[in-house]
Amino acid sequence: MAKSLLYSLQSSHCCASRSLIVVSREGGFITQNCTSCDKPRAIRPEHIPSALYTLCSIPMLVKVVNKNYAYTCQRCTNIHMIYQLVPAWEEYFKYNGFAIPNLDNYSF
Ligand SMILES: [Zn+2]
Ligand SMILES: [Zn+2]
Repeated sequence: MAKSLLYSLQSSHCCASRSLIVVSREGGFITQNCTSCDKPRAIRPEHIPSALYTLCSIPMLVKVVNKNYAYTCQRCTNIHMIYQLVPAWEEYFKYNGFAIPNLDNYSF
């Protein structure tokens, strides 16, 4: 499955730049990394953009599932672990510089 580029809703503290959500470690730990200087920082659920689940057509909520963040449908039991959707940290460089469309209304 192709990885998604999800940007944090919060600008980076260091450069006030967009922050890309990436997997920073094995086991599904995600961080938000500054797109200007690559500095990682912790991410909170409210920094993660809401995603629309196409089958249910309603925005999914960000919840902690098995100690990792996941998009969960408010209507049924669909769960998408965010670490399975976003690129690993080391893949990040490959994606850096791509022009990314607005992901606020991103659908799976
Ligand atoms: Zn920075
Ligand atoms: Zn659903």
